[in-house]
Amino acid sequence: MESLVKRIQAEGRSLKGGVLKVDSFINHQLDPNLMMEVGKEFVRLFGHLPINKIVTIEASGIAPAIMTGYLMQVRTVFIKKKQPNTLENVYASSVHSFTREQDYEVCINANFLTPDDHILFIDDFLAYGNTARCMIDLAHQSGAIIEGMGFCIEKTFQKGGEYLTEQGINFHSLACVTSLEHEHISVCEEPKSRFK
Ligand code: 5GP
Repeated sequence: MESLVKRIQAEGRSLKGGVLKVDSFINHQLDPNLMMEVGKEFVRLFGHLPINKIVTIEASGIAPAIMTGYLMQVRTVFIKKKQPNTLENVYASSVHSFTREQDYEVCINANFLTPDDHILFIDDFLAYGNTARCMIDLAHQSGAIIEGMGFCIEKTFQKGGEYLTEQGINFHSLACVTSLEHEHISVCEEPKSRFK
């Protein structure tokens, strides 16, 4: 998605440890017009599939997910990062956090992820695929079917894409960061070879 690539070039910052900072339009401050465009792009890529639910994980996945959910007119549910005492009847899993370098527990109410669900999973970043792995685990537990996964930004040098390809997941990323070395951001649109 050209506008997202341009925004990353203009406002993104390369931090130590292969982290891309995009908090002026995705991770802290949000640009609703850009998020709506992201939603439209996900509809273009996945709209032909029998999706009846969007799933994301709090917090930064929620904005692109709700835009897509609105455009597809399907409910949108986010995986919670801690199990609150008020939640019973949940599917639980754990995720290794790339940015915090620790594991944390996540859960989703079993009423909101069922064998009737054909889901599109959406997140802000694909790095090593740990969050996607957690989604696959929750789908197995619940019997929900993953129709596809969409990421705003994929860091292709961190191998999450290879993992998803091995798993046979239909996934797309709207911008691909190929390197963050020497504080320089190399970013492009998703390669056409991804499209079958
Ligand atoms: P993964 O689970 O694929 O290893 O990493 C993806 C998750 O970690 C996303 O939910 C995202 O919030 C966070 N993440 C991974 N890499 C980055 C990054 O370079 N910048 C930011 N802001 N978040 C990242």
